[in-house]
Amino acid sequence: MKFGTRILHPHHEIDPATHAVGVPIYQVSTYRQESVDRFGRYDYARSDNPTREALEETIASLENGTQGVAFASGMAAISTALLLFSAGDHLVVCRDVYSGAYRVLTELFSRLGIESTFVDTSRLETVREAIRPNTRGLYLETPSNPLLKITDLAGAAALARERGLITLVDNTFMTPYLQRPLDLGCDIVLHSGTKFLNGHSDVICGFAVVKDRELGSRLRFLQNAFGAILGPQDSWLVLRGLKTLRVRMEESQKSALAVAQWLSRQEKVVEVLYPGLPSHPGFAIHESQASGPGAVLSFRLSSVDATRKLLNGIRLAVFAVSLGGVESIVSYPARMSHGAMSPREREALGISDTLVRLSVGLEDRDDLIADLDRVLNG
Ligand SMILES: *Cc1c(COP(=O)(O)O)cnc(C)c1O
Repeated sequence: MKFGTRILHPHHEIDPATHAVGVPIYQVSTYRQESVDRFGRYDYARSDNPTREALEETIASLENGTQGVAFASGMAAISTALLLFSAGDHLVVCRDVYSGAYRVLTELFSRLGIESTFVDTSRLETVREAIRPNTRGLYLETPSNPLLKITDLAGAAALARERGLITLVDNTFMTPYLQRPLDLGCDIVLHSGTKFLNGHSDVICGFAVVKDRELGSRLRFLQNAFGAILGPQDSWLVLRGLKTLRVRMEESQKSALAVAQWLSRQEKVVEVLYPGLPSHPGFAIHESQASGPGAVLSFRLSSVDATRKLLNGIRLAVFAVSLGGVESIVSYPARMSHGAMSPREREALGISDTLVRLSVGLEDRDDLIADLDRVLNG
């Protein structure tokens, strides 16, 4: 079955009591057990909840995995997956990794004796050089945030396998509709489901998905032990949001490409970073491992003044942190996601004061472009 069909007809059982078309919200914390000798399938809702389970099965199926695990946030998914590592372990991490992941790695996991080296993973030689005898994991994001750099996933996974490392990929920007890292040999897919998967800017959630059953059991153990689970109401909302994932991604991506092409022709725009443009240095690799460029792009303006004017004046995109909603969202990495970094660190990464990130939503694309035209050229 194709993706768009699987999304609408997942495998979980229809509620046997009513045959409801949707999965009911099991708003419970515990389940009555029959007797001292007979325990049921469910015992306590931190361990298992049927609504969350339906969502976990759905995300596992969409990523072509065997086990999906749902968390209270993308950061809970990332942090819990990182608990697979132990004191003395070393990780190689992509340099423009999501800032929250950078924060837990450098301020929390470092205290627990798990060290990280941040490198430009779009060059595999750099990854190879950063691997040490105690390296246990390779942590990737492609396209990366906010510079949309592309890492060769199959190449990185092969290198990691050769050296016995676990490959983790944050697939938030692409979603399984456009890119399935497990099929390319990566071990763990991570998501902020807050973004495109739920898609409506109304839930915070996260996922980890694996193919390997043993790794799946270890993640399930950590989910239950650490306890940062997703609640049943939020699980239900994400199940609903997922039904339109394909149409949302298709439509937003078409508009993103139109916006990126339009921006490339503007005098005040000095650079457009979008893997759907043939001028992007990662264009060919991205095209070989994903079925589309997605709906997030970044661009640099010619001056800080023009940047401020755009951010303050734009109407058809919400000026906010986050991405992947039905509404377009514009953000300013230098002040938002990377605001905690020093100007020197930001400059070294290429996150200038003129960089703007745009997550394209479902507005009419002519209106979006007209609005950008008004704030840029008006
Ligand atoms: C938002 C985001 C996260 C963190 O997810 P939360 O749901 O906000 O905890 C992680 N990775 C990427 C790429 C993100 O965009």
